[in-house]
Amino acid sequence: YAKNISSMDICLYNSSMTESIEYNVALEQKIRRALEDDKLYFVLQPQYDTKTKRLRGFETLARLNDENGNPISPAMFIPIAEKTGLITSIDNWIIRNTMIFFKKVLNKTDKDLLLSVNISVLHLLNKGFIDEIKLMLQETEFPPNQLEIEITESVFISSISKAIEILNELKNMGIRIALDDFGTGYSSLSYLTKLPIDILKIDKSFIDELLVSDSGRNYVAAIISIGHIMNFSVLSEGVEIQDQLDILANLGSDYIQGYVWGKPMNTSDVLKLIGITEEL
Ligand code: C2E
Ligand code: MG
Ligand code: MG
Ligand code: MG
Repeated sequence: YAKNISSMDICLYNSSMTESIEYNVALEQKIRRALEDDKLYFVLQPQYDTKTKRLRGFETLARLNDENGNPISPAMFIPIAEKTGLITSIDNWIIRNTMIFFKKVLNKTDKDLLLSVNISVLHLLNKGFIDEIKLMLQETEFPPNQLEIEITESVFISSISKAIEILNELKNMGIRIALDDFGTGYSSLSYLTKLPIDILKIDKSFIDELLVSDSGRNYVAAIISIGHIMNFSVLSEGVEIQDQLDILANLGSDYIQGYVWGKPMNTSDVLKLIGITEEL
């Protein structure tokens, strides 16, 4: 009996592995082709103060279209890009180009807006990372104190001390640090005391539970309390409806980001939102 089960397991395992390898190779080729064909671009999603609805800034999100012009989801291409090392060039392209765009925006407005960018942990731990960021800041003349770098907790599994060192260097340059997808991944509360964090971003999966159960709501309340006790700001991600927004305002989530107040948008919609009428 045991023998049968194990051979069956091996069979299933092998066939699904093969399938997923073929699938991943095809997807990797798609990604490489899209990068070669300049099909990478970015959209920006607004972040707001929960109580006043003041615009805090924007998170930049990578987008990639395949040869037919259909978008490939970041949930698909980011993990593949991380496995293949393509993530470094994707991140760098996105950061550089949003900084170029957003610097022009900042030149046209008195508003004190932030630009948040996602950095893969793998990229963060690259040897040249700090120098790359310094160079980009110089070349684009972007104010470091208006740049925020978002990292996810999956980062810290392997080389926590190295990550702390790099994050501290970024902090010393004036850059803010956001802990993204908080509550998911390999989080440990002890990281919160060790990492130079400015803002916790509560993952959408917890926001989805707000209206579903008391425990869902209590969990979010607890994260907000912990964040505030640690002197961090707290932003809730993936807020889709007014009822969630009302609860989050009551619980004291400082900022929100979500479809309820703004979807990821292209650069001309960003200009409209800020009220910039001239061309850049
Ligand atoms: P993230 O950094 O946590 O970004 C938030 C994700 O939630 C985005 O998905 C955004 O479009 C989505 N979102 C925001 N509000 C709502 C909402 O109200 N409802 C729903 N259903 N979704 C909402 P997206 O753009 O698909 O990106 C997925 C993930 O891919 C990001 O999660 C981030 O981890 C990664 N990613 C995106 N761009 C980059 C990049 O340039 N570099 C790196 N390293 N990772 C990136
Ligand atoms: Mg993010
Ligand atoms: Mg997130
Ligand atoms: Mg995410």
